[in-house]
Amino acid sequence: MAEVIICKGVDAGEQAASIASSVFLELFKRKSTAVVGLATGSTPLKVYEHLAQSVRSEGMDISHVQGFALDEYVGLEKSHPESYFSIIDKHVTKQVGFTPGLVHVPNGDLASIKTAGKVYEAMIKASGGVDVQILGIGTDGHIGFNEPGSSLASRTRIKTLTEQTRADNARFFDSLDQVPRHCITQGIGTILEAKHVLLLAFGEAKAEAIRDAVEGPVSALCPASALQLHPHVSFIVDEAAASKLKLKDYYEYTYANKPDWQRI
Ligand code: PGA
Repeated sequence: MAEVIICKGVDAGEQAASIASSVFLELFKRKSTAVVGLATGSTPLKVYEHLAQSVRSEGMDISHVQGFALDEYVGLEKSHPESYFSIIDKHVTKQVGFTPGLVHVPNGDLASIKTAGKVYEAMIKASGGVDVQILGIGTDGHIGFNEPGSSLASRTRIKTLTEQTRADNARFFDSLDQVPRHCITQGIGTILEAKHVLLLAFGEAKAEAIRDAVEGPVSALCPASALQLHPHVSFIVDEAAASKLKLKDYYEYTYANKPDWQRI
Protein backbone atom coordinates (compact mmCIF):
# COMPACT_ATOMS: atom_id res chain seq x y z
CA MET A 1 0.00 0.00 0.00
CA ALA A 2 1.21 3.44 -0.74
CA GLU A 3 1.70 5.61 2.29
CA VAL A 4 -0.78 8.50 2.51
CA ILE A 5 0.08 11.27 4.98
CA ILE A 6 -2.74 13.73 5.57
CA CYS A 7 -1.57 17.07 6.99
CA LYS A 8 -4.24 19.03 8.85
CA GLY A 9 -4.95 22.60 9.82
CA VAL A 10 -3.97 25.99 8.47
CA ASP A 11 -0.30 25.08 8.34
CA ALA A 12 -0.81 21.80 6.44
CA GLY A 13 1.42 23.11 3.64
CA GLU A 14 4.23 23.82 6.10
CA GLN A 15 3.87 20.38 7.70
CA ALA A 16 3.99 18.70 4.32
CA ALA A 17 7.05 20.72 3.29
CA SER A 18 8.79 19.87 6.52
CA ILE A 19 8.10 16.12 6.12
CA ALA A 20 9.30 16.13 2.50
CA SER A 21 12.38 18.21 3.19
CA SER A 22 13.36 15.91 6.07
CA VAL A 23 13.39 12.98 3.62
CA PHE A 24 15.92 14.86 1.47
CA LEU A 25 18.00 15.83 4.51
CA GLU A 26 18.21 12.24 5.69
CA LEU A 27 19.27 11.24 2.20
CA PHE A 28 22.02 13.90 2.08
CA LYS A 29 23.29 12.75 5.49
CA ARG A 30 23.74 9.17 4.40
CA LYS A 31 24.84 9.79 0.80
CA SER A 32 26.92 12.82 -0.19
CA THR A 33 26.53 11.90 -3.87
CA ALA A 34 22.73 11.63 -3.65
CA VAL A 35 20.61 12.09 -6.76
CA VAL A 36 17.38 14.02 -6.36
CA GLY A 37 14.43 14.26 -8.72
CA LEU A 38 13.06 17.79 -8.90
CA ALA A 39 9.66 19.13 -9.85
CA THR A 40 8.45 22.59 -10.81
CA GLY A 41 4.94 23.98 -10.27
CA SER A 42 3.71 25.75 -7.15
CA THR A 43 3.34 22.63 -4.98
CA PRO A 44 6.99 21.88 -4.14
CA LEU A 45 8.09 25.50 -3.61
CA LYS A 46 7.77 25.34 0.17
CA VAL A 47 9.75 22.11 0.24
CA TYR A 48 12.69 23.87 -1.40
CA GLU A 49 12.39 26.74 1.10
CA HIS A 50 12.48 24.33 4.04
CA LEU A 51 15.35 22.42 2.52
CA ALA A 52 17.37 25.60 1.95
CA GLN A 53 16.89 26.62 5.59
CA SER A 54 17.84 23.22 6.97
CA VAL A 55 20.88 22.81 4.72
CA ARG A 56 22.10 26.23 5.89
CA SER A 57 21.33 25.77 9.56
CA GLU A 58 22.96 22.33 9.64
CA GLY A 59 25.94 23.51 7.56
CA MET A 60 25.50 20.53 5.27
CA ASP A 61 27.82 19.87 2.34
CA ILE A 62 25.56 19.24 -0.66
CA SER A 63 28.16 20.15 -3.29
CA HIS A 64 28.19 16.61 -4.74
CA VAL A 65 24.41 16.14 -4.90
CA GLN A 66 23.02 15.79 -8.43
CA GLY A 67 19.54 16.85 -9.50
CA PHE A 68 17.29 15.97 -12.42
CA ALA A 69 14.19 18.01 -13.21
CA LEU A 70 11.17 16.24 -14.61
CA ASP A 71 10.32 18.36 -17.59
CA GLU A 72 10.69 21.46 -19.72
CA TYR A 73 8.68 23.37 -22.29
CA VAL A 74 9.75 22.88 -25.88
CA GLY A 75 10.78 25.96 -27.81
CA LEU A 76 10.86 28.36 -24.85
CA GLU A 77 14.21 30.13 -24.43
CA LYS A 78 16.14 28.86 -21.41
CA SER A 79 16.42 32.50 -20.30
CA HIS A 80 12.60 32.93 -20.29
CA PRO A 81 11.53 33.42 -16.64
CA GLU A 82 8.94 30.62 -16.98
CA SER A 83 11.27 28.07 -18.57
CA TYR A 84 11.75 25.23 -16.12
CA PHE A 85 15.49 25.81 -16.53
CA SER A 86 15.03 29.30 -15.03
CA ILE A 87 12.60 28.14 -12.36
CA ILE A 88 14.80 25.26 -11.20
CA ASP A 89 17.84 27.55 -11.22
CA LYS A 90 16.07 30.15 -9.07
CA HIS A 91 13.97 28.05 -6.67
CA VAL A 92 16.17 25.00 -6.34
CA THR A 93 19.81 25.37 -7.41
CA LYS A 94 20.44 28.88 -6.11
CA GLN A 95 18.05 28.77 -3.17
CA VAL A 96 19.11 25.39 -1.77
CA GLY A 97 22.76 25.82 -2.80
CA PHE A 98 23.31 22.89 -5.15
CA THR A 99 26.26 22.91 -7.55
CA PRO A 100 24.84 24.46 -10.77
CA GLY A 101 26.58 22.04 -13.18
CA LEU A 102 25.10 19.09 -11.31
CA VAL A 103 21.45 20.13 -11.66
CA HIS A 104 19.98 19.08 -14.97
CA VAL A 105 16.80 20.01 -16.83
CA PRO A 106 15.66 18.26 -20.05
CA ASN A 107 16.73 20.22 -23.10
CA GLY A 108 13.70 21.78 -24.78
CA ASP A 109 15.65 23.34 -27.68
CA LEU A 110 13.88 22.56 -30.93
CA ALA A 111 17.13 21.94 -32.78
CA SER A 112 18.03 18.87 -30.71
CA ILE A 113 14.60 17.75 -29.53
CA LYS A 114 14.69 14.44 -31.43
CA THR A 115 17.61 13.13 -29.37
CA ALA A 116 17.08 15.10 -26.13
CA GLY A 117 15.05 12.34 -24.47
CA LYS A 118 17.68 9.64 -25.00
CA VAL A 119 20.45 11.98 -23.88
CA TYR A 120 18.58 12.77 -20.66
CA GLU A 121 17.84 9.13 -19.92
CA ALA A 122 21.54 8.32 -20.35
CA MET A 123 22.48 11.11 -17.92
CA ILE A 124 20.09 9.79 -15.28
CA LYS A 125 21.43 6.28 -15.75
CA ALA A 126 25.05 7.46 -15.50
CA SER A 127 24.23 9.20 -12.20
CA GLY A 128 23.21 5.86 -10.69
CA GLY A 129 19.50 6.77 -10.67
CA VAL A 130 17.25 9.04 -8.64
CA ASP A 131 17.18 8.37 -4.89
CA VAL A 132 14.25 10.60 -3.95
CA GLN A 133 11.84 12.09 -6.49
CA ILE A 134 9.47 14.89 -5.59
CA LEU A 135 6.26 15.15 -7.62
CA GLY A 136 3.23 17.38 -7.90
CA ILE A 137 0.11 16.16 -9.68
CA GLY A 138 -1.97 17.85 -12.35
CA THR A 139 -5.71 18.25 -11.97
CA ASP A 140 -5.92 15.67 -14.79
CA GLY A 141 -3.67 13.24 -12.91
CA HIS A 142 -0.49 13.98 -14.82
CA ILE A 143 2.93 13.54 -13.25
CA GLY A 144 5.80 15.37 -14.87
CA PHE A 145 4.06 16.34 -18.08
CA ASN A 146 2.77 12.81 -18.72
CA GLU A 147 -0.76 13.67 -19.73
CA PRO A 148 -3.66 11.18 -19.65
CA GLY A 149 -3.08 8.52 -22.28
CA SER A 150 0.68 8.41 -21.69
CA SER A 151 2.22 4.97 -21.83
CA LEU A 152 2.85 3.72 -18.33
CA ALA A 153 6.22 2.46 -19.58
CA SER A 154 7.19 5.74 -21.28
CA ARG A 155 10.66 7.26 -21.17
CA THR A 156 11.80 10.88 -21.57
CA ARG A 157 10.26 12.25 -24.77
CA ILE A 158 8.31 15.08 -26.37
CA LYS A 159 4.62 15.36 -25.43
CA THR A 160 1.71 17.57 -26.42
CA LEU A 161 0.18 19.43 -23.49
CA THR A 162 -3.56 19.19 -22.97
CA GLU A 163 -5.58 22.38 -23.14
CA GLN A 164 -6.38 21.81 -19.44
CA THR A 165 -2.70 21.89 -18.50
CA ARG A 166 -2.08 24.92 -20.69
CA ALA A 167 -5.00 26.67 -19.00
CA ASP A 168 -3.74 25.64 -15.52
CA ASN A 169 -0.30 27.03 -16.34
CA ALA A 170 -1.53 30.19 -18.08
CA ARG A 171 -1.35 31.96 -14.71
CA PHE A 172 2.43 32.03 -15.04
CA PHE A 173 2.33 33.69 -18.48
CA ASP A 174 0.85 36.97 -19.76
CA SER A 175 -1.77 35.07 -21.74
CA LEU A 176 -2.85 31.54 -22.68
CA ASP A 177 -1.40 32.05 -26.17
CA GLN A 178 2.08 32.24 -24.72
CA VAL A 179 1.91 28.82 -23.03
CA PRO A 180 3.84 26.38 -25.24
CA ARG A 181 1.97 23.43 -26.74
CA HIS A 182 4.79 20.92 -26.37
CA CYS A 183 7.06 19.77 -23.63
CA ILE A 184 9.78 17.25 -23.00
CA THR A 185 9.16 15.13 -19.93
CA GLN A 186 10.60 12.17 -18.10
CA GLY A 187 8.35 9.22 -18.84
CA ILE A 188 6.26 7.33 -16.34
CA GLY A 189 8.67 4.42 -16.69
CA THR A 190 11.52 6.80 -15.87
CA ILE A 191 9.78 8.19 -12.79
CA LEU A 192 8.95 4.69 -11.54
CA GLU A 193 12.68 3.93 -11.35
CA ALA A 194 13.26 6.50 -8.59
CA LYS A 195 13.90 4.68 -5.31
CA HIS A 196 11.47 6.75 -3.23
CA VAL A 197 8.72 8.96 -4.63
CA LEU A 198 7.11 11.80 -2.67
CA LEU A 199 3.95 13.16 -4.28
CA LEU A 200 2.53 16.33 -2.75
CA ALA A 201 -0.93 17.77 -3.42
CA PHE A 202 -2.95 20.53 -1.82
CA GLY A 203 -6.46 21.85 -2.30
CA GLU A 204 -9.81 20.60 -3.47
CA ALA A 205 -8.90 20.95 -7.14
CA LYS A 206 -6.53 18.00 -6.68
CA ALA A 207 -8.99 15.76 -4.78
CA GLU A 208 -10.18 13.75 -7.80
CA ALA A 209 -6.68 13.30 -9.15
CA ILE A 210 -5.50 12.07 -5.74
CA ARG A 211 -8.43 9.68 -5.43
CA ASP A 212 -7.73 8.25 -8.90
CA ALA A 213 -3.99 8.08 -8.27
CA VAL A 214 -4.21 6.31 -4.91
CA GLU A 215 -7.36 4.21 -5.23
CA GLY A 216 -8.43 4.19 -8.85
CA PRO A 217 -7.59 1.49 -11.33
CA VAL A 218 -4.05 1.64 -12.70
CA SER A 219 -4.83 3.37 -15.93
CA ALA A 220 -3.29 5.67 -18.51
CA LEU A 221 -6.34 7.89 -17.91
CA CYS A 222 -4.73 8.88 -14.61
CA PRO A 223 -0.95 8.69 -15.18
CA ALA A 224 -0.24 9.08 -11.44
CA SER A 225 -2.11 5.80 -10.81
CA ALA A 226 1.01 4.04 -12.17
CA LEU A 227 2.59 4.90 -8.82
CA GLN A 228 0.50 2.09 -7.32
CA LEU A 229 3.06 -0.22 -8.98
CA HIS A 230 5.95 1.46 -7.14
CA PRO A 231 7.19 -0.13 -3.90
CA HIS A 232 7.92 3.12 -2.03
CA VAL A 233 5.60 6.07 -2.61
CA SER A 234 4.50 8.64 -0.04
CA PHE A 235 1.50 10.81 -0.89
CA ILE A 236 1.68 13.92 1.31
CA VAL A 237 -1.58 15.83 1.06
CA ASP A 238 -3.82 18.26 2.91
CA GLU A 239 -7.38 17.44 3.97
CA ALA A 240 -8.93 19.04 0.90
CA ALA A 241 -6.82 16.98 -1.51
CA ALA A 242 -7.58 13.87 0.59
CA SER A 243 -11.31 14.56 0.75
CA LYS A 244 -12.35 12.05 -1.94
CA LEU A 245 -10.29 9.11 -0.65
CA LYS A 246 -12.45 6.14 0.34
CA LEU A 247 -9.91 4.75 2.83
CA LYS A 248 -9.00 8.14 4.31
CA ASP A 249 -9.64 7.04 7.91
CA TYR A 250 -7.51 3.96 7.45
CA TYR A 251 -4.58 5.98 6.06
CA GLU A 252 -4.76 8.26 9.07
CA TYR A 253 -4.95 5.31 11.45
CA THR A 254 -2.02 3.63 9.72
CA TYR A 255 0.16 6.74 9.88
CA ALA A 256 -0.74 7.47 13.50
CA ASN A 257 0.19 3.92 14.47
CA LYS A 258 3.32 3.59 12.43
CA PRO A 259 6.37 2.44 14.36
CA ASP A 260 8.85 5.33 14.60
CA TRP A 261 11.50 3.46 12.63
CA GLN A 262 9.09 3.17 9.70
CA ARG A 263 8.16 6.83 9.53
CA ILE A 264 9.58 8.79 6.66
P1 PGA B 1 1.07 22.75 -9.41
O1 PGA B 1 1.28 21.81 -10.70
O2 PGA B 1 2.06 22.27 -8.40
O3 PGA B 1 1.40 24.13 -9.87
O4 PGA B 1 -0.33 22.56 -8.96
C1 PGA B 1 1.42 20.43 -10.51
C2 PGA B 1 1.57 19.74 -11.85
O5 PGA B 1 1.03 20.23 -12.86
O6 PGA B 1 2.20 18.69 -11.89
